[in-house]
Amino acid sequence: MEILIEYGTPAQQEKFLKPLLAGEIRSCFSMTEPEHAGSNPIYMSTMALEDGDDFLISGHKWFTSGADGAAFAIVMAMTNPESENIYERASQIIVPLDTPGYKLVRNISVMGETGSGWASHSEVTYDQCRVAKENLLGTAGTGFKIAQNRLGPGRIHHCMRWVGICERAFQMMCLYAGQRQLSPNNALASKQTIQNWIAESKAEIHAARLMVLDAAKKIDDHGQYDSRVEISMIKFYCANVLQQVLDRAIQIHGALGMTDDTVLANWYRHERAARIYDGADEVHKSRVARLIMKEYGFKI
Ligand SMILES: Cc1cc2nc3c(=O)[nH]c(=O)nc-3n(C[C@H](O)[C@H](O)[C@H](O)COP(=O)(O)OP(=O)(O)OC[C@H]3O[C@@H](n4cnc5c(N)ncnc54)[C@H](O)[C@@H]3O)c2cc1C
Repeated sequence: MEILIEYGTPAQQEKFLKPLLAGEIRSCFSMTEPEHAGSNPIYMSTMALEDGDDFLISGHKWFTSGADGAAFAIVMAMTNPESENIYERASQIIVPLDTPGYKLVRNISVMGETGSGWASHSEVTYDQCRVAKENLLGTAGTGFKIAQNRLGPGRIHHCMRWVGICERAFQMMCLYAGQRQLSPNNALASKQTIQNWIAESKAEIHAARLMVLDAAKKIDDHGQYDSRVEISMIKFYCANVLQQVLDRAIQIHGALGMTDDTVLANWYRHERAARIYDGADEVHKSRVARLIMKEYGFKI
């Protein structure tokens, strides 16, 4: 939605954004390819060749989340492969998913769940999909610039959601530790290891929340470009706090934590990917370090 609000033409907004906002249709974002490292998506095989007033799009993508049942995809494809600036070779193009040549190959099984609809992660192919040039977002070659603009706000949304999940898991952890009796009048919470987990989780969730608030304020005050360090810091920090808190909550619940009788196992399955999507931990840490070293006058 953010992409269409910021970069959509009035015609694109009328046709694609309005029904999205009305909840009548869903969209998906199709960038990652199985054959190339998604961490460095400047290398990709999907091509959008000009053909009169149209593009002919061909390529193979996977982890196009929510493609199952979506009305259209925003596809990242090479439009300017000869451009000297490697960051100006790809574009984002709206592809309605009823376009001939589009195929949903499968919903990928992730951590034992295949999922469907919005909760799916699909492998898809585009075989000479013909779409009008008016479906181009922004100008040709600005695909990465648009992607970066989308990923900044997207990451803070994830972090806010993760802080919420942490709070709920923490609440469950405390209630269970207080109620579960190892022997009469000997609750789990009386053990120091459990107390450490409660205290550490509380401190980490608090730190995560304050970091997210700080990043949000910086984005509001200075824009997302100048907030790259803060955005990358919350992305890897909150994803790891989430993993830690869920892991402790499951451990405290014992066998019950492994079942789907509580929501913990479901979160654990789904949120392991938090450290990978929208930039793996290592990529964000590297970015933070590079930007900080730049402040000290070093180019690494
Ligand atoms: C649940 C889920 C949903 C997703 N949804 C979407 C979607 O809707 N649309 C879409 O286009 N994509 C989506 N993705 C794909 C996601 O963006 C990529 O998985 C991610 O960018 C990493 O790319 P990759 O999987 O190719 O891993 P690679 O780039 O091959 O990297 C593999 C691993 O190498 C390490 N690594 C990578 N770079 C560095 C580095 N510079 N320094 C040190 N270590 C490094 C990291 O540990 C990384 O996990 C989704 C992925 C998941 C798991």
